[in-house]
Amino acid sequence: MAKKQFKAESKRLLDLMINSIYTHKEIFLREMISNSSDACDKLLYKVMTEGDSGITRGDLGIELRADKDARTLTVTDNGIGMDKEELENNLGVIASSGTFRFRKEVEADPKESDVIGQFGVGFYSAFMVADKVTVITKKYGSDTAYKWESAGADGYTVEESSRDGVGTDIILHIKPDTEDEHYSEYLEEWTLRDLVKKYSDYIRFPIRMEVEKSRKKADSPEDKPEYETYREVEVLNSMEPIWQRPKNKVTQEEYNKFYEDKFHDYTPPQRVISVSAEGAVTYKALLFVPGAAPYDYYTKDYEKGLQLYSGGVLIMDKCADLVPEHFRFVRGVVDSPDLSLNISRELLQHDRQLKVIAQNIEKKIKADLLKLQKDDRPGYEKFWKNFGRQIKYGCAELYGSHRELLEDLLLFWSSSRQKLVTLDEYAAGMKEDQKYIWYAAGDSVEKVDKLPQTEKLKEEGVEILYFTEEVDEFVAQIFRSYKDKEFRSVLDGQTSEEAEKEAKEAGDVHKAAFDFVKEALGDRVKEVRASARLKSHPVCLVAGEGLSFEMEKYFRQVQPDSGIKAERILELNTAHPVFEALEKAVTEDPEKARDYASLLYNQALLIADMPLEDPTAYTDLVCKLMK
Ligand code: ADP
Repeated sequence: MAKKQFKAESKRLLDLMINSIYTHKEIFLREMISNSSDACDKLLYKVMTEGDSGITRGDLGIELRADKDARTLTVTDNGIGMDKEELENNLGVIASSGTFRFRKEVEADPKESDVIGQFGVGFYSAFMVADKVTVITKKYGSDTAYKWESAGADGYTVEESSRDGVGTDIILHIKPDTEDEHYSEYLEEWTLRDLVKKYSDYIRFPIRMEVEKSRKKADSPEDKPEYETYREVEVLNSMEPIWQRPKNKVTQEEYNKFYEDKFHDYTPPQRVISVSAEGAVTYKALLFVPGAAPYDYYTKDYEKGLQLYSGGVLIMDKCADLVPEHFRFVRGVVDSPDLSLNISRELLQHDRQLKVIAQNIEKKIKADLLKLQKDDRPGYEKFWKNFGRQIKYGCAELYGSHRELLEDLLLFWSSSRQKLVTLDEYAAGMKEDQKYIWYAAGDSVEKVDKLPQTEKLKEEGVEILYFTEEVDEFVAQIFRSYKDKEFRSVLDGQTSEEAEKEAKEAGDVHKAAFDFVKEALGDRVKEVRASARLKSHPVCLVAGEGLSFEMEKYFRQVQPDSGIKAERILELNTAHPVFEALEKAVTEDPEKARDYASLLYNQALLIADMPLEDPTAYTDLVCKLMK
């Protein structure tokens, strides 16, 4: 029979598996069992939605059989099975996203073979322990069975075969033992039993295996008991879904283990939220806040959603409608007997019960995060590092319609306390006559901290929030105010009335100098004026109405050609000796005064972390003035 070739990509993955130096080869069993469980889920879902097949949940299951003489381990299920086309498509190419992700990761760092355990690596993991794999399968509703066989990367064969009933047998021809690797252990009952407990305990179909047991011989005397062995089929997994068990009966380790197995995330979850609701809608939910952001979290590849079960039958792997965008980092399962199995995905979106569940879940997550914020601040800060940006996006989105839900969760860096504070904490620390919530935006806490514009307020003991992420200013713009106090930028906004008045007067006194600088700089600046915010520095740049510099930077990144610019206002400190020198030059040596104007403007750009329009001209100018 002619061998068919694996698709190029699959062949590479296969090579990786065959030559794997990975130490946790044992995970292959988890992968086979998880495929079998999926196949049972699919069949159950099919018969329950189509009706009248006579098959019920209790009929479905998975079986392990080890044959030491033949050196085979067989994983059998009576799930949905595969037809010929599916065999070729599913096992001949990399189908699953899990496998694909894994491959990308391994290619990024081929030495890091340990990553294997972190992903659902799928069917090919069989080749870590087997030198040949035979699959015999019959699809539900079909009369013909097929046999797929492959001894590795050089291809596979498919032929007609026979099988009692529908389902699939995966027969692994276990590799001979080598010096380093004792493959025979995968034929031992106790190893298999351990592995099922370790990786597949919560699989919701029974995993059966005939095991050897011993008992006291019935006729042997009590004081001199004799034992005999016998064989008996045993269910190896506990089967009870962890989310059905009362919270106080489950240990943190069990939750962590479940999370790890289910979501292939080896960082323990930071929060476990267990929900048991009765009333308008009855459901159980088990939710997890990951301990680290998934590597693809802030990319398009990341898919949000909770696993949705209806009375223990999986209806959807990632039901996006169950978690709002601002909590999209939450993983977990929801199980409700109230949901109809027959519902289509399109209809599910509009399902009233699902909406109620989603709303409840949103509230539970919020409450849990607030609790974390109150009870364990360092823990909350860790969460904030992972997912704070998401919460901020949520605040800025949809014209701030989630504000009420999310504003208490926000944290910003405080100038005076040198740590992250909530808006509430900021408000509580405001001076009696303080009118505004002051903020300063920039790339990092260190950079913002050094901005000359913050000097005066700091000296007055006013707390400033540092906005170091692009989204921060959008949040402030959308919110406008918090507890009736307006957000105001130290960098752009008006400062105190008194300081403004002083600056205005200084501007009038030194009008000639300001007019001169404005004329020298031309269209590059909208205005040149005396500063109400500078203390020991001579100059700064302030944005006019509307766009801030941080926003301009943001737009430059996402739409480089848009030419969107903030208005530039140059502020000078009239109390600074540099201003004196400038003013002197204006009357005595206008050419020099022009150079000074240009120099000050460029310095202001540098401090604002904005690109210089002509860096060469600037350095030439500095050199000229030094000579
Ligand atoms: P994944 O399970 O992540 O999709 P796998 O490589 O494990 O990727 O499996 C590929 C596909 O092969 C599965 O999606 C499924 O369609 C099919 N498959 C594997 N094992 C079985 C099985 N025991 N019964 C039915 N189909 C199976």
